[in-house]
Amino acid sequence: MHPRALLDARGLRPKKRFGQNFLMDAAASHRIARLALDGISDPYRERVLEIGAGTGALTAALVEAGASVTALEIDPDLVAILRERDDLRGAEIVQADALEFDFAAFGGGETWHVAGNLPYNVATPLVAGLTEMEGGPKSIVAMLQKDVADRLAARPGTPAYGSLSVAVQYAMTVERAFTLGPRHFHPKPKVDSTVVRLVRRDEPAVRPKDLALFRKVVRAAFAYRRKTLANSLALALDIGRDTITRAIVAADLAPELRGERLDLNDFARLADELAQG
Ligand code: SAM
Repeated sequence: MHPRALLDARGLRPKKRFGQNFLMDAAASHRIARLALDGISDPYRERVLEIGAGTGALTAALVEAGASVTALEIDPDLVAILRERDDLRGAEIVQADALEFDFAAFGGGETWHVAGNLPYNVATPLVAGLTEMEGGPKSIVAMLQKDVADRLAARPGTPAYGSLSVAVQYAMTVERAFTLGPRHFHPKPKVDSTVVRLVRRDEPAVRPKDLALFRKVVRAAFAYRRKTLANSLALALDIGRDTITRAIVAADLAPELRGERLDLNDFARLADELAQG
């Protein structure tokens, strides 16, 4: 069912405030669904939470591929469309704001997954929150603004590398699947979109002694991107400059480096040195 036809039939127009850019490319929806199903060994037990179901393009592809789908949608007009679609009878449709949703209760300690063509305005906090949460999804297959996908996958020393890259890569492997231009959406967004597949690692990439401090150090290292690591940490953390310099040197790093040069192991060593004071 064509998203534009579904909207037109009800006299609806895409709403900018909800980041509504509907995917018009059925083949792409099926490709995303296949990627989401790829990591699922038991589709009955491992449920898929779709975020931002819209008119149901991806929801239908997920159901067809055999997933147990719960679809979240914030817009009541679209929830009405989703509930009327016969081909979505197999999916649970929930009207909810994903930023307020109780993901832990949904997961319930079981293995679960996320899929979605995510609203651009909420994609970054959602992906960051879902990766960091205890009992979070085993995998996230998401269509994102290309520059957000670049930040998730970025390697040290590249312009897109930042605290989001480190936070996500700590918990997940990141793979870019494919990119679509604006013409595949209605209405056309201004930028390209990329589908990424994040899969939770069995063990985090590094084991800092104090995870909360590790996260604080990472954020502080990128807080002042034009400054050196030592300066950025001194400005952003409530720790004396001498202690910071000592910790950087003890972690085998140079104080005049910039934060964007550090990989996950460097950050873990640095946080461990700072934990000792
Ligand atoms: N999945 C559909 C597709 O591929 O065509 C729609 C994608 S559209 C980019 C994003 C969808 O997320 C819209 O339907 C929008 O109403 C919904 N949305 C926006 N903010 C949301 C939020 N905070 N919680 C849940 N859904 C949201």
